[in-house]
Amino acid sequence: MTTILIVEDNEMNRDMLSRRLERKGYQILIAVDGAMGIEVARAKMPDLILMDMSLPVVDGWEATRRIKRDKSLKHIPIIALTAHAMANDREKALDAGCDEYDTKPIELPRLLGKIEALLIPPVLERAS
Ligand code: MN
Repeated sequence: MTTILIVEDNEMNRDMLSRRLERKGYQILIAVDGAMGIEVARAKMPDLILMDMSLPVVDGWEATRRIKRDKSLKHIPIIALTAHAMANDREKALDAGCDEYDTKPIELPRLLGKIEALLIPPVLERAS
């Protein structure tokens, strides 16, 4: 089963997103701040991480940089989620090591497309 870690401090966003992704067949892990996000990634090795950028304790930018500096974690694709589309947010997210970027409010079909695109290469590798 494909596991997605949602790192999001807003309870309503977190619950809504996890319910919608569970309905699509994904197994969901939750972290409520960036430090917990790194811990859960290490402990559970999710297939993909959805990272809110505005987080307490350790923000999403720094959590992404730490995950991407860690040899055992850097292969995990990260999709950055930001509340307001700033002109340079996409570039900033990619610079921090994110593999993709999306904006809130979440449009599920668009986000699912990005999730699936990032999950396809490892699946093909395993099949060969
Ligand atoms: Mn937030």
